[in-house]
Formats: sequence, C-alpha cells, structure tokens
Amino acid sequence: MLRDNHGRAITYLRLAVTDRCNLRCHYCMPEHGLEWLSRRELLTYEEMLRLCRLLVSLGIDKVRITGGEPFVRKDMMQFLTALSGLDGLREIALTTNGVVTAPLVPELKRIGLRAVNLSLDTLDRERFFRITRRDELPRVMETLEALLRDDIGVKINAVVMDGQNTEDIVPLAEMTRELPVDVRFIEEMPFNGGDHATARPLWDHRRILNTLRGRWPGLEKIPDPAFSTSMNYRAPGHRGKIGIIAAWSRTFCGTCNRIRVTPQGVLKTCLYDHGVLNLRDKMREGWNDAQLTEHLLSAFNHRHKDGWAAEEARRGAPVEESMATIGG
Ligand code: SAM
Repeated sequence: MLRDNHGRAITYLRLAVTDRCNLRCHYCMPEHGLEWLSRRELLTYEEMLRLCRLLVSLGIDKVRITGGEPFVRKDMMQFLTALSGLDGLREIALTTNGVVTAPLVPELKRIGLRAVNLSLDTLDRERFFRITRRDELPRVMETLEALLRDDIGVKINAVVMDGQNTEDIVPLAEMTRELPVDVRFIEEMPFNGGDHATARPLWDHRRILNTLRGRWPGLEKIPDPAFSTSMNYRAPGHRGKIGIIAAWSRTFCGTCNRIRVTPQGVLKTCLYDHGVLNLRDKMREGWNDAQLTEHLLSAFNHRHKDGWAAEEARRGAPVEESMATIGG
C-alpha cells in the first residue's frame, strides 16, 4: 500500500478534467468566469489514462472525476468508459453540478458508476440563481431524479454561506427523511478565483451542527467510514445520513488518503498546497513510467502534515485560485 511520510495511506485520486463550468457559483469563481485554459494546456485523455493506470499500479484504487464541470468537456463519456476498463481500479466516482447530467445517467449506470456527488446549495429557485448566477435548478433536480431512478448512490454537497443559504440547511437535511441520499454541508473555503475576500467562515461546522440539532434534538452521531472527510449523523427515522465537512477548519487531515491532479496536470498532495509536481510537462518532456513513479513517490514522501502547513508553505501565494481549477 502507498503510504506518505506521516504513515497515511494514499488510495484516492481526484482528477479534475476541465476548469470550465456552466455555472458561476460566486463561492467558486467571478461572474465573468476564469481565464480558461487552452486545449493545449489541458491534459489530454490519453495523458489522464496514462496517469491513472500508473497511479492504480502504485496503489490508488478509487478515482473521482471532477472539474470544472466534467460534462462540459467534449467526449467525457468516452473517457469515463475507457477509465472504467482499467484493471485494479475498484471505484470510479463523479462530482457534477447536474446541469447537463440527467440524460447521461443510464450510460453512467451501464459503465458501472455507483456513486455521484451532486452539488446543490439550495432547493429554492431564486436563491439557486443568486448563488450560481444561472437559472438551472430544474435541470439539477432532473438529474437527482434520474440518479435515484437508476439506483446510483447520491451524496448532495451544499456549501453553507452566511446570508445566502443558511435557511436551506434544514430543508436540504430534510431530504434524507424519505430519500436514499446523504446530504453534506461544507464550510466555505477561500478558493473563489479572487471573487471576494474570505476569512474564517461565519458558518463553521459547529454552527451548522447546532442548527441541525435545533431541528432534530435526537440527531444521532453515527460512525464515520474510514478516510471520511465528513462527520456523520442521522436524524431519527431518516433513511439517509447527514454529514458536515469542516473543509476550512481542516479537522480530517490526519487520515487524508487523497491526492489531486488539476486540469493542467499539476499534482497536489493537499487541497491547500500550491501544486507539487507538473506531471503534464514531465510527460511531454518524455519521462517514462519509471521516472514518473520515482517523482510521484518522492512527492508522497514529502506531504505536508495538514492543510495548515500546506497553506503556510505557499509562501505568500494567497489561497484564492478557483476551486474549478482544483476539483474540490
Ligand atoms: N462542477 C462540479 C460540481 O459543481 O459539483 C465539480 C467541481 S466543483 C469545483 C466541486 C465542489 O467544490 C462542489 O461541490 C462545489 O460546491 C465545491 N466548492 C467550490 N468552491 C468552493 C468553496 N469556495 N468552498 C467550498 N466548496 C467549494
């Protein structure tokens, strides 16, 4: 098994396949979008498959496809199909905003995808528009229905923002009563493409938990799966779980099993680091798998202890790149 210099297992790759997105969530990017990467700057599908194959041979057994919005990249389904054929890969997961995903769900099912994270910060159409700057709630809800119909596991992710959607915490959590979905509330992080300055979030994990307890005094703490980033709960009698992800407070670094590859092929061994190895350039310089392996292992051996140390090591580079350039 792959282990880092702190003894943590590394088993999970989050691969961002594009920086482009069909929403403009203000906690992620400015209204005008980003300076999108050119096609040449992006990893090609062949390069992604090569990296996945290599990382799986080293011990990665789960790959999550994220972005940007994965399905705005052309031929995404073909890439997913190729990835699903990779020997040794135990699980492929996907994070999507659900805007164009509904018609693709049967195909996702067919290639064996069992879990989708759906980003949904509110059930109110006006608030959805205010947050995402696009009027797409109905299409996202169609995706949710399609996923449930095809029995694909759904985790709904909601970023909690003061003055934006805190009134949605209870209605979103209420979905776990009848539906087989987990709903997770995420602390807002500063990765917004410079849209606005952020400090410690006013709605941290404690405040979110207090709100949930206010509605369900019998909210039960349930065991967290291995490597979980969420602290998990269940409201009395509910089918689904309710999770809280202390993404700003960084309470879960001690068991972090994740690495990330950005759309332009930069390896990140922590969400908060500034990138530790440009895999795209090395592949294009002609490095063979042995050379890549040597440098990957060295990067895993120099991992920061936690997100605070990683942020510190950025040496002044502010944490403000858009999450669409990382994948979440
Ligand atoms: N487009 C896909 C989607 O919306 O799910 C995948 C990429 S998106 C960057 C991945 C996740 O990052 C989403 O759940 C989004 O809400 C979350 N995210 C983006 N910016 C964030 C921020 N500043 N703080 C916390 N979560 C953020």
